[in-house]
Amino acid sequence: MAIERTFSIIKPDAVAKNAIGGVTAKLEAAGLRILASKMVRLSEAQAKAFYVVHKERPFYAGLVKFMTEGPVVVQVLEGENAIAKNREVMGATNPEKAAAGTIRKDFASDIERNAVHGSDAPETAKEEIAFFFSTAELAALAR
Ligand code: GDP
Repeated sequence: MAIERTFSIIKPDAVAKNAIGGVTAKLEAAGLRILASKMVRLSEAQAKAFYVVHKERPFYAGLVKFMTEGPVVVQVLEGENAIAKNREVMGATNPEKAAAGTIRKDFASDIERNAVHGSDAPETAKEEIAFFFSTAELAALAR
């Protein structure tokens, strides 16, 4: 299985719940390594651009408002099969449908305020990492 990189956001609801450590512990327990991590406050323009794929969806405006309401933690994760593994440990988008022990089961409030984002494919992982981290920044953190 290939070593992959993926991109994660600990969303404003989880940060406000003091769950940065709880979320990160589950990622690490799943075998994912935190390669880069920083706390940022998304601007409206950034949130709109990040979720542009959803711009025609009825929840888009609410999602942008939610993602800008407070700080988030953006992370680059690495590990075997990291993209699928992260999606597995995140749990279903709707926490009511999330499996026991997943991040969303334990920390999400509802289908919108669902604690974490995780890339869904290699191409989006690459784009999303580049959205928040420069090549130089990642190179400086290499280990
Ligand atoms: P994800 O890949 O599991 O995060 O899910 P999606 O890419 O489908 O959706 C992106 C984000 O939009 C989700 O994580 C939720 O925060 C939000 N979202 C998705 N579906 C809904 C919905 O039906 N209603 C609301 N209010 N928000 C949603």
